[in-house]
Amino acid sequence: MKNHIAVYPGTFDPITNGHLDIIERSLKLFDRLIIAIAENPVKKPLFTVDERMRMVKESVKKYKNVTVESFDCLLIDYLHKRKAHIIVRGLRVISDFEYEFQMALTNRKLAPDIETVFMMTAEGYAYLSSRFIKEIARLGGRFDCFVPPNVAKMLKEKF
Ligand code: ADP
Repeated sequence: MKNHIAVYPGTFDPITNGHLDIIERSLKLFDRLIIAIAENPVKKPLFTVDERMRMVKESVKKYKNVTVESFDCLLIDYLHKRKAHIIVRGLRVISDFEYEFQMALTNRKLAPDIETVFMMTAEGYAYLSSRFIKEIARLGGRFDCFVPPNVAKMLKEKF
């Protein structure tokens, strides 16, 4: 699977150690990875796109061959613009499956040249989600072990 550009799309609100694990393992498969931050106003993100861009860039600066961008169009159109043919998604608990399945099949129908590749979560991150971390932060719990230090700092500033 060498010489391929893969796109890892998501809301990353905020980026977590679970996302970083997927990024690290994707880099063993693909030569270049674009982390594509969905503006996703429907999800009413806690962090603005600019904040998410900043936190993701900082979190992945040690990796070579990773770029961070944001997009607000159809994902497949974004991939075509970048001449990429692979979407990377992470799979955690069973509840991810239905949504990911629908999205992968819809994208394949719209763009048969694009393939979605699923990476199984590391067992330690199986229940880790951005939503869960925001809830812990809001309620004053400890979240340092779930996110990189720069993100922990930004979360503390938000709450
Ligand atoms: P989206 O709003 O597109 O689901 P997220 O930022 O929540 O964006 O997730 C982006 C991708 O990362 C999704 O495929 C999601 O399943 C995956 N992901 C999120 N958290 C984890 C985790 N702890 N382990 C593995 N994959 C994860």
